[in-house]
Amino acid sequence: MRGSVPAPGEATRRYGGNTPCVEVRAGGRRIILDAGSGLRGLGEQLRDTDRPVSADILLSHYHYDHLQGLPFFAPLAEPQNRFVFHGPRREGRSVQDVLEGQMCPPYFPVTLDEVARAKLEFRSIAPGEAFEIGPVRITSTELDHPGGNLGYRLEYRNRTLVYATDVEHTEHPSEGLVELARGADVLLHDAMYTESEYEQRRGWGHSTWAGALATAEAARVKKLVLFHHDPERDDRALDAVLRRVQKRFPNTVAAREGLTLRLAARS
Ligand SMILES: [Zn+2]
Ligand SMILES: [Zn+2]
Repeated sequence: MRGSVPAPGEATRRYGGNTPCVEVRAGGRRIILDAGSGLRGLGEQLRDTDRPVSADILLSHYHYDHLQGLPFFAPLAEPQNRFVFHGPRREGRSVQDVLEGQMCPPYFPVTLDEVARAKLEFRSIAPGEAFEIGPVRITSTELDHPGGNLGYRLEYRNRTLVYATDVEHTEHPSEGLVELARGADVLLHDAMYTESEYEQRRGWGHSTWAGALATAEAARVKKLVLFHHDPERDDRALDAVLRRVQKRFPNTVAAREGLTLRLAARS
């Protein structure tokens, strides 16, 4: 959804102002991609389910916009729940070190340990590593972003979703990204900038919408989801970007709050 910082307000009401958080349900498992501010609302939905909540949370990287929902994720406080956090080692620190290190005074009034009565597990992922979450197969690759960022490919019964937020390129995606996205049913891809905006922000780690399109075409994905919208892009400007992309790649949508995509089984 929104990149870098939440952007609530009338001008962003239709697409929404929350930072990245995507829930994937497959094979009886719940997988959550990133813990941006959207995680708070997901937590409220999950709190209304009467069963214990169990989820695997895959973190792409640890910039604030991908973590800031975690302290407000209400299901963490329930002892019957269980969460497994998966993420890369960065700056010599494990995913557990990073999460505990940002949720403590003076950044936050209480520690992760004090908040979390749920059972927590932590798993460090090496870039390129493949692993399974129940029947869902996950592969990852390192993307071009300051400090690093993992893209994830999730496969379940011939259905594939690829999550490639926070990646920088214009017309020429890396081979690793194209390989990760190859033939995916759905590709969520950074589409933060227009060409002229990108000229001012080279090296900031984000793509143009044309870059997202280039990856979708090179990898022959079926559906493209524009993701990580610039916080200054209002709904009307985002509509205009979407229309331009759809001229070349009709099966494109722009991520918005509450968007649900159903991936049909393929034979
Ligand atoms: Zn981001
Ligand atoms: Zn980032």
